[in-house]
Amino acid sequence: MRVDPDLWPLTTRVDVEGRLCVGGVALNEIADQYGTPAYILDEADFRYRIRRYRAALPGVRITYAGKALLTKRVARWVADEGLGLDVCSPGELATGLAAGVDPRSIVVHGNAKTTGELRAAADAGVGRIVIDCGTEIALLASQLRSPQEVLIRVAPGIDIHGHAAVTTGIVDQKFGFAVAEGQAALAVRRVLDQPLLRLAGLHCHLGSQVTDPAPYGEAIRRMVSLMADVRNHYGVVLTELNIGGGHGVPYVTGDAELDLEKLARVIDDALDQACATERFPRPKVAVEPGRAIAARAGVTCYRVVSVKHRPGGRTFVAVDGGMGDNPRVALYGARYTVTVANRHPLGPTQTVTVVGRNCEAGDVVANDVQLPADLHPGDLLAVACTGAYHHSMASTFNMVGRPPVVAVHDGRVRELVRRETTADLLLRDLG
Ligand SMILES: *Cc1c(COP(=O)(O)O)cnc(C)c1O
Repeated sequence: MRVDPDLWPLTTRVDVEGRLCVGGVALNEIADQYGTPAYILDEADFRYRIRRYRAALPGVRITYAGKALLTKRVARWVADEGLGLDVCSPGELATGLAAGVDPRSIVVHGNAKTTGELRAAADAGVGRIVIDCGTEIALLASQLRSPQEVLIRVAPGIDIHGHAAVTTGIVDQKFGFAVAEGQAALAVRRVLDQPLLRLAGLHCHLGSQVTDPAPYGEAIRRMVSLMADVRNHYGVVLTELNIGGGHGVPYVTGDAELDLEKLARVIDDALDQACATERFPRPKVAVEPGRAIAARAGVTCYRVVSVKHRPGGRTFVAVDGGMGDNPRVALYGARYTVTVANRHPLGPTQTVTVVGRNCEAGDVVANDVQLPADLHPGDLLAVACTGAYHHSMASTFNMVGRPPVVAVHDGRVRELVRRETTADLLLRDLG
């Protein structure tokens, strides 16, 4: 199957010439107009994922994790579709505000927020600030002029057995307060002692690329038990429970994905059970998907620059992008799906390694992919599932400017972020 619907954007089609089209536009035309590499974003897919969430989890508050992919236009799609916005830096906050997102729908994260960042968030009137450490409690309180609703981030001690870089629910990692030794309870006490801090509830985030819904049920049971402890010790009934994001998506055919209907049942069952056991009123649950909304909307286009057959070994297809626009292969050993996008891939195929243009041997775009044996310089390649953590994680390694983000919808093309030029990069170099 050339275009597996589980991996490619909702509107992906192949036209009579064999060209891959997204949002009613041939990728080859976008590549001609905007150059390569380029990130293409299917607005319909992005909105569709949000609607799937709203339909599957009707009683749950949904906040989009902007760190997956954020531009002003993307923030507006999120707000249009009725979701809140998670941010974790002044830049992300500014993007949401510049897009006109209602600050009350913004949740501010981060394990090392500075005084200035906390003040900026509070002054902007954000809906929630998630407190990650003891220092932040007094620091935030000292910056406030009016009451601020906050959540306390807890590490519930749940291991998703994912990549270490994206496993955040265990105790031995940097985020949040541990439940053991009363650390989380003490944080609650200290927040309650600050008259301008309004403790709305608790937060946890287990990690990323989670495809089994069961850990979310376990998180709810542990967190409700902690909420009951807080009530028993301090007489305060917390009403909000944010269980984070991390919902997994497929990158290659056959990969698992988190089933939203199953997640909805797990959340419901865990709430029923935990609230009955603890005789605790049902809290309002919130989730924060990033990848699961943005990933499949995105496709990255590259031009083939060279094809190199190693004697008795691998075939390397070098393209004009690489780890600068996609660091995920180098960071996590991520796998990707690649297809030729400018023509019918007729004839025999070969197994190749698609590599980038950066000066590092680890600069791989995709390992072990099947591409036409007659692939040649000038062919256009499209890589699926690159909407999340690509634009947002891109670097300028080797002084290569970052690609544009181009949105497509109903045959229309709109450049959301322009290409970064060498002149842009030199502008920062003060000589
Ligand atoms: C990264 C992050 C998310 C989103 O993770 P995804 O894997 O993109 O869904 C949600 N909440 C918090 C606190 C995060 O750090």
